[in-house]
Amino acid sequence: MRFCPLYSGSSGNALLVLTEEAAILVDAGLPGRVITQALEAAGVAPEQLSGILVTHEHSDHVRGVGILARRYRLPVYANALTWRGMLPLTGEIPPAQVRVFETGRDFYLAGVNVLPYAIPHDANDPVGFVLRSGGSQLTILTDAGHVDARMLDVAAGSGLVMIEANHDVEMLKAGRYPFPLKRRILGERGHLSNDACGAALSALYLRGVHRAVLGHLSRENNFESLALETVRGVLRAGDIPDEAFALSVAHRDRIGEMYEVG
Ligand SMILES: [Zn+2]
Ligand SMILES: [Zn+2]
Repeated sequence: MRFCPLYSGSSGNALLVLTEEAAILVDAGLPGRVITQALEAAGVAPEQLSGILVTHEHSDHVRGVGILARRYRLPVYANALTWRGMLPLTGEIPPAQVRVFETGRDFYLAGVNVLPYAIPHDANDPVGFVLRSGGSQLTILTDAGHVDARMLDVAAGSGLVMIEANHDVEMLKAGRYPFPLKRRILGERGHLSNDACGAALSALYLRGVHRAVLGHLSRENNFESLALETVRGVLRAGDIPDEAFALSVAHRDRIGEMYEVG
């Protein structure tokens, strides 16, 4: 299984997962043409996609879902409450392309086993995904106010975890966001800080995870080297040597690396 974060950040998310038979888009939170260009840069024609998985209905995750689904006749997978929340943003999607999954119940998409699991975030019924194929396992964990033991157990043993490092707490507090927004982001159903991301990865290390891609960075309250350094610092403080845990970062504004999940 291969993984490429096309875009990841508070201004739009689209993640690509590839196997021999499948090309899956996780979220489509940018204009359709931007995602189409990124897909083509990654060597995937949009009409080749097996489907779009949707984590939750926030616009940075669904902005391009309607356009892509209608233009390329793609099936779209989301739970019932997310469907209800996103329809005003996506517009009508032909009924034959509507797929409704249940949070916590796994299913197959083009031979890939997909487990949507609940995530604490201020949306209708937000999920992360664990994707399994041919012995490799990828966990996507973004837009999470906090990480609990249940989520750590779900991600255990993944060859790669794509995890949110949304903000630096001090930058957020000192920044220009209005207070209610700051409180929302810092809340239990908001977004993971760099420190919280590091703590989650330390706990995941003990559950057999040795590689992570940091994502969903805030444009206002974070930058790539700060996220990487802060997370690395937390891992070191937990006696996890640099060579034992591979870290990289997905970009907000350009296509990322193609990772072999392993
Ligand atoms: Zn969100
Ligand atoms: Zn988001």
